[in-house]
Amino acid sequence: MTKTTILTIVPEGAIAGLITPEAAFDAVEQVFAAMARDDAYNFPVVREAIGHEDALYGFKGGFDRAGATLGLKAGGYWPHNLEKRGLINHQSTVFLFDPDTGKPTAMVGGNLLTALRTAAASSVSIAHLARKDARVIGMIGAGHQAKFQLRAALKQRDFDKVIGWNLHPEMLPNLEEVAGEAGLPFEAVELDGMADADVIISITSSFDAILAAGQVAPGTHIACMGTDTKGKQEVDPQLLARATVYTDEVAQSVSIGEAQHAVAQGLITESDIRQLGAVINGTDPGRTSDEQITLFDGTGVGLQDLAVAAAVVDLARERGVAIDVEI
Ligand code: NAD
Repeated sequence: MTKTTILTIVPEGAIAGLITPEAAFDAVEQVFAAMARDDAYNFPVVREAIGHEDALYGFKGGFDRAGATLGLKAGGYWPHNLEKRGLINHQSTVFLFDPDTGKPTAMVGGNLLTALRTAAASSVSIAHLARKDARVIGMIGAGHQAKFQLRAALKQRDFDKVIGWNLHPEMLPNLEEVAGEAGLPFEAVELDGMADADVIISITSSFDAILAAGQVAPGTHIACMGTDTKGKQEVDPQLLARATVYTDEVAQSVSIGEAQHAVAQGLITESDIRQLGAVINGTDPGRTSDEQITLFDGTGVGLQDLAVAAAVVDLARERGVAIDVEI
């Protein structure tokens, strides 16, 4: 007996017109909550240097029982795409499957979704962990992701100023542009100037600590978003010892996230790292004082990708723009 299945295709070019940062926030918040209830789990990450075009290729997948979402994001980084072919270097595609049958249900462009789901993660952390009276946001990093991060973060508190530092100062106008969209002033600062920030986001490709523990004021919330691979690092491990540390997924935090260094140096242990989803669920108190430093280690999990891709598929179907193929 053969039965046909509908596979929905949502091409990369259609994503921007379908999903908003607000919808990405809701999808990511829900899936973090499901992970902390053990209703959803991520599969081990596969990431390979394939020995062709200097590309890094891999898979991030998972299953969300609560949202009935099963699948994976396949993709990675092709460093010569832009210069050789005029294509962006980060390339990914999300594949969803019917958890009841294993049949494929959707294929969704993953490039813009990666930026939106990563920005949503730090935003969810700010919404749940930053002081309510946060006014100054500090950015470390000014590349492609940084613009998405800042745009989404500015919606979480009544910020009145953006400050920024970047290794390559010529990229700082990227941050000024996003601050300007929100009608906010932007100031480039030295790293010591980050002590004025109530919220800090780091989103760089750094392999060495940039921000020292002493450059962060009491009461600050920091979202470390750049470290998603073994060896990468953005902040002094002493900062994690000083902070209450939250993450999306503890197993990734200690292996590929910012916490890998503090754990390796014995400054904190795995059991010191809490799940952001537990704060969302109300089973962890989150911030308990205005003096406490909270740090979110956002490593990027497959379930984030699946959550935003599933939201896009629903929106494409609702609006009649889904490309359905019988398979
Ligand atoms: P990009 O190339 O557009 O920007 C890179 C940024 O890092 C720039 O600000 C650059 O000045 C800075 N930088 C480069 N080398 C540095 C160094 N040695 N020290 C300090 N800063 C340095 O890249 P992007 O797309 O904005 O990605 C930024 C980072 O975010 C990457 O490391 C990427 O892997 C990571 N990322 C994480 C997630 C997640 O879920 N956590 C998701 C997507 C991307």
